[in-house]
Amino acid sequence: MLKTKINKLHGLLKGRISDDAWQKIITAWEFGQRVHHGQVRKTGEAYAFHGLETAIILAGWGLDSVSIQAGILHDVIEDAGVTKEELAKLFGKNVANIVDGVTKVSKVRLRGSKEALFVENLRKMFMAMSKDIRVVLVKLADRTHNMRTLYALGNSDRLRIAKETIEIYAPLAERLGMGEVKGELEDLAFIYLDLEGYKRIRNESKPYFHRAETVINKMRKRILKDMGENKLEAKINTRKKHLYSLWKKVQRDEIDWDFTKVHDIVAMRIIVARVEDCYASLGIVHSLYKPVPRVGVSDFIAQPKPNGYQSIHSKVFGPRGRIVEIQIRTFKMHEEAEHGVAAHWAYSEAKSKGMGDFILQKKGVVAGNKMSWVKNLIDWQKDIVDTGDYLKAIKLDVLRHRNFVFSPQGDVYDLPTGATPIDFAFAVHTHLGRYIKAAKVNGKIVPLNYQLKSGDMVEIIKTKNPIKPNKDWLTFVTTLIAKREIARNNPNN
Ligand code: MN
Repeated sequence: MLKTKINKLHGLLKGRISDDAWQKIITAWEFGQRVHHGQVRKTGEAYAFHGLETAIILAGWGLDSVSIQAGILHDVIEDAGVTKEELAKLFGKNVANIVDGVTKVSKVRLRGSKEALFVENLRKMFMAMSKDIRVVLVKLADRTHNMRTLYALGNSDRLRIAKETIEIYAPLAERLGMGEVKGELEDLAFIYLDLEGYKRIRNESKPYFHRAETVINKMRKRILKDMGENKLEAKINTRKKHLYSLWKKVQRDEIDWDFTKVHDIVAMRIIVARVEDCYASLGIVHSLYKPVPRVGVSDFIAQPKPNGYQSIHSKVFGPRGRIVEIQIRTFKMHEEAEHGVAAHWAYSEAKSKGMGDFILQKKGVVAGNKMSWVKNLIDWQKDIVDTGDYLKAIKLDVLRHRNFVFSPQGDVYDLPTGATPIDFAFAVHTHLGRYIKAAKVNGKIVPLNYQLKSGDMVEIIKTKNPIKPNKDWLTFVTTLIAKREIARNNPNN
């Protein structure tokens, strides 16, 4: 058992890290076993294996050797009484900082009896995140393994952890562009939160999954043949919709449990080397299968989603008029869609080992010179890690694009860069926008054009009676909803 797990980890890292780095990982593993000695998880496994499993998940995401060591050691401060200083001495400052960060994040509890504590903990979590993104990645891997073994816990723990997973960690994974992780976390939580619902969707959807796969397999052969004739190399596979996301979808009014209306229950995925090939593939697909009018094509390559997601989606009429969703992307986009931010760590490490952009491009890792925001973030973070100057790292690009701010009740709002307390008020409720007198951020009065930062707690001080939103606010608000509401209430402008 032990041997196979270590071998698995080694296999995932092979060719990516030096012998020296592997030695450090082994040292961490031996240390972990020693300090966790005698501790047993509810599953009956020795505690140290949990660290090893966490490290294996991280290796699967392509992360660097520092993250792997931190994964192995992530519970030694909290559960084995090791100090941060001790870790720093043995494994270096980076590993120690990540483990310390994970320990702080672990203290986040969902809606305990004390709201204020919950808010404070969430803020700590985002602060920890902003220092080193690897803290969150280790935490997500930790949570993934905990969810996979949640069956071993008692009922009330299961419920609490599953709820926390679906409310905090799954959305976090999504924001970080880690679609696969988000899907797995949600499906695992679903089992514990609503077993009846889970069973129902699983059973009722079965024949539809089966049918969609049969249709797609037929289409796959035709498309591959035509692509071959056009000298386009592609990998075609299928993506089954995760059960939790399917469950949410069938409950929408326009679907109302009619599975034939869920066109992406199984989607076809065409993966090619270059961006040009994506468009060429789209041409081939449309010459064989007509796109569905109006809902047809979404080009998320030309216009990526806010979390960086890129692909072309097209709904086409397949055999016997059945509508099928086809997703076309490059290998690099695919890697990013599955592993998000983590994929960029893999990239930056390969690059630091002297692989030029050209080689990475040939391997399908990088598309041209186009730098996505995540890659910028990673490059920028690497500088900080290199100089060890953590204080400058308070801002994280992920959070610069999407600022997480809190209401005094602990609700989290996700606002774009430059958002102000006015934007916050309208995001909470359009109604609240008519009662803005002043705003407090982290307990202090701020000007209304104050730019919110992640982790800020925002409180709107209300007027007694509703007032007309000031048209001058239009010069600094950033969200559409605020702009629309202010303009609507100032019709002469
Ligand atoms: Mn853990």
